[in-house]
Amino acid sequence: MHTDAAKHAFIAFGSNQGERIDCLKKALKALSDHPDLSLVDVSAIYETAPVGMTDQPSFLNMVAVFHSKLTAEALLNVTQSIEQDGGRERKERWGPRTIDLDILRHGTDTVDTAHLQIPHPRMMERAFVLVPLLDVAHHDPALCEDTLHEALKGCADRADVKRISDGLPDVDA
Ligand code: ADP
Ligand code: MG
Repeated sequence: MHTDAAKHAFIAFGSNQGERIDCLKKALKALSDHPDLSLVDVSAIYETAPVGMTDQPSFLNMVAVFHSKLTAEALLNVTQSIEQDGGRERKERWGPRTIDLDILRHGTDTVDTAHLQIPHPRMMERAFVLVPLLDVAHHDPALCEDTLHEALKGCADRADVKRISDGLPDVDA
């Protein structure tokens, strides 16, 4: 299902299994290839220490922005099928994964159902989301960078987020 007015969708990517860069690339390409999504921008890539279950490999994280003509629900279906295609096995929450795709924002939509909450309820508590989000926040005037910086100051994991590359240059969007 899709609507005609395009919205800015902010999607957080995380990978800590397999060829992590390739997992990010593959998911970015799959989203970019969707007829109702078009890629606007990507953040740099960051390497981050795992939060929650700490006895697992470090993550690569980034945030991408798309123009979306999907509904929020339809976008979740798309991200979940890409997670499945990426070989992710849903074993344990916060455990290792080849690709995790979290919808941070979808235009001004607010959704609060059992399986979907938008804006993402934990996005302001996680440096591994806030740091890449700051790279691309200017695409949505409703995302106040001062508020994001302020939230970042309260994140215990902010020292564990290291920029490792300027993005994924060779993705043909
Ligand atoms: P997490 O991302 O918190 O580490 P999962 O990726 O396993 O954990 O997601 C758990 C559930 O979160 C998914 O089954 C999905 O239905 C739900 N969910 C709720 N809101 C969102 C959102 N904004 N983006 C992605 N998943 C969401
Ligand atoms: Mg997730």
